[in-house]
Amino acid sequence: MESITIAAYGKINLSLDVLCKRSDGYHEIETVMKSIDLKDTLILTKQREGITIECDNPLVPLDSTNLVYKAYSILSDIYNIKKGVHIKIHKNIPVAAGLAGGSSNAAATLIGLNELWGLKLSKEELMKIGVQIGADVPFCIMGGTALAKGIGEKLKTINSTSEHLVLLAKPDIEVSTKDVYNSLNIADIGTRPDMKKMLKAIEDNDLHRISDNMVNVLEEVTAKKHSQIQYLKSEMIKWGAVGSLMSGSGPTVFGLFQNEKELLQCKSNLEGKVPTLIITKTI
Ligand code: ATP
Repeated sequence: MESITIAAYGKINLSLDVLCKRSDGYHEIETVMKSIDLKDTLILTKQREGITIECDNPLVPLDSTNLVYKAYSILSDIYNIKKGVHIKIHKNIPVAAGLAGGSSNAAATLIGLNELWGLKLSKEELMKIGVQIGADVPFCIMGGTALAKGIGEKLKTINSTSEHLVLLAKPDIEVSTKDVYNSLNIADIGTRPDMKKMLKAIEDNDLHRISDNMVNVLEEVTAKKHSQIQYLKSEMIKWGAVGSLMSGSGPTVFGLFQNEKELLQCKSNLEGKVPTLIITKTI
C-alpha cells in the first residue's frame, strides 16, 4: 500500500467541568464529548524519508508545530522507523475553534501510519501514544460519545445511537486554550454540570434533558472577554435551538435542534452576523 485516505472527525463538548489544577500545571476535567459529522480528509502517501505537510487552509501551520508532525515523530521514534510520509490535509473543520481540528488530524495520522507501516497496533495502544500529543487525541481515535476524565484521556464509552442536528457558529475571534484555562478561577465557578443527569439523558436519548444539562465552565471565561458568545447562544435559542453551548475552550457556539426547518430558519437569521455557520449532526 502506497497511500491511504483517513477521515478526521471533529467533536463538540456537551458538558465540561474543571475540577482542579494539578501540580504539573494540567487541569483535571470531566467532559462529555460527542463526534460530529464534520470531517477533514487526510491523504498519507509514503515517501523516502521525513515528513512533508500540505494543507488547503492557510491558517494551518506546515512545520513541526502541526499535530500531524508530532504524531509522525512520536510513532517513528517509538518504533524506530526511518520511512517518510507526505500528508495532504483537506480542511473542513474550522481552525482554533474548540472542535478538535488539530487533535483529530493527529488521531488520523496515527491510524493511517499504523496501516501504512503495518504496525498492527490496537486502538488502545494508539490511544496511549495519542495522549502524548494532546488530551483530546485519544477521544478522536475512539470517536462516538464518551465521558472523559483526568486531563481528558481517561475515557468511558457511552452508548448513544442518537443523531441530533447541530448548527455551528464560529465568531471571528481568537482564543487560546491555554489562556482560557489560565484565566479560569476554579473557586469562582458558579454552575457546574451534573454529569450523572447528562449521562442518563443521553442514555434515554432525550434532547430536552440533554439540552437542560449542558454546562461548560469555560464558557464564562471566554464570554467575559467576548460578548458574541452570549449573543450567539441567545440567538440560537430565540430561533429554535433546544439547547446551545460553547464547545471546549471556544469560541464556537453550537445549537442542537429538533428538526431541520428550525435549524435552517436559525441559520438564515444568523447569516451575516457571524462569519462561519456550519450545519452538521452528532454521530
Ligand atoms: P482542540 O484539538 O484542543 O479541540 P481546537 O479545535 O480548539 O483544538 P485546533 O483546530 O486544533 O483548535 O487549532 C489550534 C491551533 O493548533 C491552531 O491555531 C494551529 O496553529 C495549530 N494546529 C496544529 N496542527 C493543526 C492541524 N492539523 N489542524 C489545525 N490546526 C492545527
